[in-house]
Formats: sequence, C-alpha cells, structure tokens
Amino acid sequence: MTVTTRFAPSPTGTLHVGNIRTALHNWMFAKRHGGRFLLRIDDTDGERSEERFVAAIRADLAWLGLHPDGEERQSARFDRYEARLAELAAAGRVYPAYETAQELELKRKVLLGRGLPPVYDRAALALSDADKAKLEAEGVRPHWRFKLDHDAMIEWDDMVRGPQRFDPKTMSDPVVRRADGSWLYLLPSVIDDIDMGISHVVRGEDHVSNTATQLQMFAALGAEPPRFAHEALLTGSEGKLSKRLGSLGLDHFRGAGIESQALRALLARLGTSDPVEPFVDSAPLVESFDFARFGRAPARFDEDELAQLNARIVHQFGYAAVRDRLPAGMTEAGWNAIRPNLSTIAEAADWWQVVEGPVHAEIAEEDRAFLAQAAGIAAGLDWADPWPALTGALKEATGRKGRALFLPLRLALTGREHGPDMAALLPLIGKDAALERLRGT
Ligand code: GLU
Repeated sequence: MTVTTRFAPSPTGTLHVGNIRTALHNWMFAKRHGGRFLLRIDDTDGERSEERFVAAIRADLAWLGLHPDGEERQSARFDRYEARLAELAAAGRVYPAYETAQELELKRKVLLGRGLPPVYDRAALALSDADKAKLEAEGVRPHWRFKLDHDAMIEWDDMVRGPQRFDPKTMSDPVVRRADGSWLYLLPSVIDDIDMGISHVVRGEDHVSNTATQLQMFAALGAEPPRFAHEALLTGSEGKLSKRLGSLGLDHFRGAGIESQALRALLARLGTSDPVEPFVDSAPLVESFDFARFGRAPARFDEDELAQLNARIVHQFGYAAVRDRLPAGMTEAGWNAIRPNLSTIAEAADWWQVVEGPVHAEIAEEDRAFLAQAAGIAAGLDWADPWPALTGALKEATGRKGRALFLPLRLALTGREHGPDMAALLPLIGKDAALERLRGT
C-alpha cells in the first residue's frame, strides 16, 4: 500500500498554527513512509472561498518546506459528487428531506426539553412519493441526508486515540447537500479520499464524530476506509483553548523573526512524548515521527518556547544559508561572530552596525585615562588577535581585571555593555576604528 495523505484546508482564511500543525503531520507521515502528500483545496463553499487564500495557503506550505506531491480542488469535482450521490440515492442510502431550519430547530428543542438527545427523527423517510411531489410542486427544494445504518456499530482503531466506538442510533443522519444544491464537507471529502487513494486521514479531534458517519459513507460507496489519526488540539500557553491561537498565522511568526525550521521543529514534537529539539533539518523529525508517541491531552503551544527554539536554530545557520538576509557587506566572519547573540536573523543588522559604526558610548570620567592608555597599547599591536593582546597588556600595565578591565573597553568599542565575544568582534571592527573609539574621537 502506498501511503497517501492529504491536507484539506478550506480557503476561507489563512492558515493558523493549528492547521499548520495538521499540514506538517500529514507531510511528515507521508515522508516517513515514502508516500505522497496531497494538498486538497476544500472550496465547496463558493461564497466564502477566495482565490487569495488559496495562494496564501500554497505560499505558506512552500515557506514551511512542505511541498505537495499533487493538488486537488473540490470545486472542480462537483459532477463527480453528483454522480456518487445519485448512486447512493438509488441504493436508498441518501434521502431527500424537506424540513426548514426552523422546523428542525423546533424538533431539537422538543427533544432536549424531554431530556432526550436531539437526534433527527427521520420523518422525511415516511413521506410518500405523492407527499414529495406535492412539496416539490409547492417549490420546496429538498436537502439530502445520508441514511446511517443503525444495525452496524461504528468502530475504528484510531492511530492516536485507540479503539473508538459509536452507536449510529445515537446520531442524526447527516445532511450532505443543502437545498440550494451546495455541498457540505462530509460526503465530498469521502468521495475524494476514495478517488485519490488516501490511505491515512490525519486531522484534529474535532472531526471524530464526522469520522463516525464518514466510515459508513465509505462502506456505502463500496470502499475500504483509510486509517484515521485524530490529534488532540493545541491550547494556548495559558492552558486554555484560546482564540488567539486561531488567529496566529505565518505572517505573525515571520514578522517576529521565527524561522520555518523552528516552527517545524516545535510543531513536529508538541504533544508527543519526544523532546522538542532544535533540528534545522527535517530528516530526524521525519524519521522519529510516529502517532503512537502522541498523547491524548491537548498540547500546549507556547510562543516563548518557540522563540527560544528559534534562537537555537539561528545559531546553527551557516553563512551561505543566511547571506541574502544579512546587511550589505556583512562577512562570514561577521556572521560567525554575531550569530551566538542572535534570537532572530534580523537582529544581525543591529550588531553589524556595532562593527561598522558609528557607535556612541557614555564613558565614565574615571575610565578616560584607562581608555587613553588602551588606545596607546592598541596602536602598537599588529592586530592578528588583538583582544587577548590588548587586555593582557592592559591588565599588566594597570592592574585592572575582570569587569573593571573589560567593561570600559567593551563600552567604548561597541557602545554597549553586552554583546558578542570581543575576541571575535575586535578584528572585525578593525584597528583604525578601534583606535578612534578608544580615543573617543
Ligand atoms: N476542510 C476540512 C477542514 O478544514 C477538512 C477536514 C479533513 O481533513 O477531512 O476541517
């Protein structure tokens, strides 16, 4: 069996961190098993779907390095859905229903009022052909319901949640097509999963009860169902399901200087029993990917954890990988010197400015003579490895050590109290600039 997964977003908005995670896991599972990963655009809702969101979804996947092996669109497949619906109708597995939304709501309230589950009563199944003809003559258009088989208990072994069991008698026959002819997600998704040879459906646990009804649709359409993995949802760092998470898209992360590798490394492991590690390369993440390692508790998404992971990713980037994103003129030696201090690549510009100057330092009165002495010693150095030479000579000449020795030098040379290793920075600053800065000119 070829493993084939699909990521099936509705292009009614941009991706958020929850569905980015779903996309990643579909991709990883496919890669892990040498399979295929498809992008399926679920655009049955013509009014809410927008082309700009389709483009944004593609761009986001590309940024994350999740390249689909194929792309499908539901809006191109309406004829196919029509044909399969007709088959189900002929087999008595879908049926027309004519209740209005208000009537259904009333039925629901009555049942709930009696303390009963609000399951649809299948009144439409009792309509005679004459009843239906009359309704249609009055201009009432039917919606279509899938008729659950009440005699077949629904069971599957979920790759994350383990054995699942649903009694179809406790569920309403799901509406699969609206009276205006538009499609709800359930049936087209099953038809697509069959036609596209989807072997594994990976999605959030908010789809568990959909899966129960969809399993019967696979059977009614004469197909073996795929395997399912329903993942626990993400929660915000405060531990609750947060609205904020639903609005966190890649623009937000990119704007905060988060690298795709950091997001990938975090989302690959979050909610699993494996530690979150700063893997730049996706291979070790893919190799260790296994649904058996996922827990059933909601996984906590923490932006601070992401920021820390990002720094550890940035520290591993070689010059060639980041060169295009660095300030003009920044050399490999410059990158190597500055890199350990960065949380984001954008911060490199800040530190490069320290190298290039001008820098401004507030020098304390009691350090002026010391710095003048430093300038004198620096002037005589050959600048091969100037920092140990300079500080060594100054220590001997002045008796200063530790903070009293290093801090005034750092401040005068960089304008800051903290920063990259001076031994790496000073050769980059260069002799002339260093002398100017030490002299305060
Ligand atoms: N379009 C559906 C959604 O975004 C797809 C669910 C699925 O993966 O089957 O929720």
